[in-house]
Amino acid sequence: MSIAKNIHSIRDAMADAAKGCNRDPESIRLIAVSKRHPLSSIRTAMQAGQFLFGENYIQEASEKIKAIPGQATFHFIGHIQSNKAKQAAELFDMIETVDRFKLAKALNNHCKKLDKKLDILIQVNIGNDPNKAGVSPEKAEELLQQLIPLRQLRPLGLMTIPPLSKNTEITRKHFKNLRLLGTTLGKKKLFASHGVELSMGMSHDFKIAIEEGATIIRVGTSIFGKRPETN
Ligand SMILES: *Cc1c(COP(=O)(O)O)cnc(C)c1O
Repeated sequence: MSIAKNIHSIRDAMADAAKGCNRDPESIRLIAVSKRHPLSSIRTAMQAGQFLFGENYIQEASEKIKAIPGQATFHFIGHIQSNKAKQAAELFDMIETVDRFKLAKALNNHCKKLDKKLDILIQVNIGNDPNKAGVSPEKAEELLQQLIPLRQLRPLGLMTIPPLSKNTEITRKHFKNLRLLGTTLGKKKLFASHGVELSMGMSHDFKIAIEEGATIIRVGTSIFGKRPETN
């Protein structure tokens, strides 16, 4: 299958999933996760009408983004060390993986120098999985409260990677819990916009995520194929 065909079939599947639960397909954004895939794959996707990409590694992303300045939108979806906050703040349109105050503060400081407002999501470890990054659901409110004085950051919602499970009902429960948490925090006016973004769902579970309210899905393998191994 070609990248273009894959994008079209994912878009069809997104529309079907949205209609199946009476949602407007336009209310859901598709991130094409291009980590470890070459710039040429990004260009091919752009020719197929895909202009939103997700990257996990700052150095790799920097080379790609600088090669096509202003031509596409990039979200950072990987783990960031606070010492990479400067580059992250410069390069990305959104950082989806803010999970601690120290990182938020570093991003805010760099954005001040750049005179940039930066959209962010709070990464939540919704299943309290010891192997996953993210603030625990219980601590998400406290983190959002701490972000209020950081004027350069615009917290728009929540992101999660649930624990891997073969049982789709367990996965569904995690997505639902993220939505409920987003609703609770939204009522407390802890986000910079009226609605709450929910970034959840990948190649194997994005339909369930859409049924549970995802506004952003992150799909890599089903668009670009298997990722080349790192050496
Ligand atoms: C790699 C990655 C994805 C894409 O996963 P696929 O299974 O290839 O669709 C989505 N989200 C995050 C955070 C990732 O790191």
